[in-house]
Amino acid sequence: MSDKGEEKSETIKKIEKPIYDRVALIGLGLIASSMFWAMKRGGLAGEVTGYARSRETRETAREIGLCDRVCDSAAEAVEGADLVVLCVPVGAMGQVAEEIAPHLKRGATVSDVGSVKRAVIEAVRPHIPEGVHFIPAHPLAGTEQSGPRAGFATLFDNRWCILVPDGEPDAEALARLRALWEGMGAHVDVMDADHHDLVLAVTSHAPHLIAYTMVGVADDLRRVTDSEVIKYSAAGFRDFTRIAASDPTMWRDVFLSNKDATLEILGRFTEELFALQRAIRQGDGAHLHDYFTRTRAIRRGIIEAGQDTPAPDFGRVAKEEAGE
Ligand code: NAP
Repeated sequence: MSDKGEEKSETIKKIEKPIYDRVALIGLGLIASSMFWAMKRGGLAGEVTGYARSRETRETAREIGLCDRVCDSAAEAVEGADLVVLCVPVGAMGQVAEEIAPHLKRGATVSDVGSVKRAVIEAVRPHIPEGVHFIPAHPLAGTEQSGPRAGFATLFDNRWCILVPDGEPDAEALARLRALWEGMGAHVDVMDADHHDLVLAVTSHAPHLIAYTMVGVADDLRRVTDSEVIKYSAAGFRDFTRIAASDPTMWRDVFLSNKDATLEILGRFTEELFALQRAIRQGDGAHLHDYFTRTRAIRRGIIEAGQDTPAPDFGRVAKEEAGE
């Protein structure tokens, strides 16, 4: 067993299951539903309550057995909960925190799964009552699907979840949240919010914006190429379309709330793009070859770190075969 594996089982050994007697999930989309199924798989929570803003989502949740109890208000869902996880778009976190604040149990932990951390801390922290722990988190796992039917128990397996404590966290509360994420299959890291936002701007936010742009460009060309864009989309472009199919609300909020880091990375991206453009114009094959050799090594590193498979389609063939 690796060091990481030993460390992981140590944490779980110390904290008996269920890790939390009562968990409340606010927002019942892809991430919350995956958390529910993963918690059930691991026997990590006693009762899980859930709340979503629309009646339609709550009814779907009841129909598919998502959550042990679906509540008609956020206040009812968090009543008596030991852990409350905010699983709504980043821009809605502050308003939801304000709504649930008076109903939180003393000693409870409030966490979230938002893709941006500094903005969430600024929006949520002012509403957290005395005696309630606040430990923001971000699981680095997702698909382009959203809604209560999108989740599945294995979403977090072998993925990273970053805990971003705001200030000096309570050791017991932190260990418990870590054990929950490890129990749901994730590796856990702890990071500062600003560092998190910069890392994610490079690895996720800027790439999403580039994918949105590329698909937008292809759409503009549609008049010229007609169905060719779809027909010949296997080469690279298809993966852009998958990323560009991600939820518009979520991604609007990500860019608006991680503005500085995203703009910083896009500035660097533009400089590199100009350099590549110049190399193409000047026929500088050596520059292009060196650049692509460097980027190929990064891809190998990702596969060696177990964060993707060398199979085409980003491992999706294997996933479909597994019936997920
Ligand atoms: P999702 O599938 O679109 O679900 C969002 C949920 O939030 C829905 O239940 C929705 O309720 C509820 N909601 C939306 N606006 C709300 C508001 N103003 N007040 C109360 N509830 C509201 O989203 P998701 O993909 O699970 O994302 C949830 C969070 O996880 C986001 O903060 C996102 O940044 C983060 N995240 C996402 C991914 C990913 O790949 N998707 C990965 C990591 C982290 P209704 O259904 O009733 O509208």
